[in-house]
Amino acid sequence: KDFRNKVKPNWCPGCGDFSVLAAMQRAFANLGLEPHDVAVVSGIGCSGRISGYVNAYGLHGVHGRALPIAQGLKLANRDLTVVAAGGDGDGFAIGMGHTVHSIRRNVDITYIVMDNQVYGLTKGQTSPRSEMGFKTKSTPSGSIESAIHPMEMALTVGAGFVAQSVSSDLKQLTHVIEEGIKHKGFSLINVYSPCVTYNKVNTYDWFKENLVNLDNDENYDASNRSMAMQKLMEHHGLVTGIIYQNKERKSYEEMIKGFKEEPLAKQDLMLDREHFDKLVAEFA
Ligand code: SF4
Ligand code: MG
Repeated sequence: KDFRNKVKPNWCPGCGDFSVLAAMQRAFANLGLEPHDVAVVSGIGCSGRISGYVNAYGLHGVHGRALPIAQGLKLANRDLTVVAAGGDGDGFAIGMGHTVHSIRRNVDITYIVMDNQVYGLTKGQTSPRSEMGFKTKSTPSGSIESAIHPMEMALTVGAGFVAQSVSSDLKQLTHVIEEGIKHKGFSLINVYSPCVTYNKVNTYDWFKENLVNLDNDENYDASNRSMAMQKLMEHHGLVTGIIYQNKERKSYEEMIKGFKEEPLAKQDLMLDREHFDKLVAEFA
């Protein structure tokens, strides 16, 4: 199936988000999904535009609030493959509360963060992912706050699927998105997606020099949480691949007692006419 639509992205030429879009579309197609089985919910930021560029259900939500919308969608219709997407400012600043609690809750959705370590849409301010010393309009003498490390954070709050990739590696990026979707539970995928306009430090060349690909390490065991934490700390978070996966952890849906088999979106509201009439009378 073709998950491309006719809308032309208005990202700057060379923006890393193009690859995230392509990888997402390929992953959906490789998994044999149909456009009507997929929903992409995004937040605000350059990356937030992604939901308008996929031939599937799309919802461009509110700043930092893609996750509550995506979780609600999934719980109402479990037949949908739900992907939330946004930037590092969206997910790790204003939306950080939702990110942490979504990981704990473990609803079966996939969250893709396009991490460019800067605020792009508002023309280049320091983000929670900017490293100390990073100079922008908002920090002309360099940032004096330390950066958030999302992979380590996710491991400490009990994530079942933690992966990282980079826009220049379309093959790995597509693979981790596929695996994230297949994982039963919340999947966090952080993608180093360079902002070619406002981040002149963390460039494609910089990542080429600094990233360590776990796929090339045959001794790496992604089911070992302490090994995952150790690897991340050893390389200052600059690793790619599936960092950790716990296949035993049950999703939120599986944990709810008495959760109806039939998704809410497919239940016939008219079945219980008496209840329905009462409800209508109440709100009349
Ligand atoms: Fe991409 Fe940066 Fe341009 Fe936004 S400002 S579209 S993040 S390159
Ligand atoms: Mg950003």
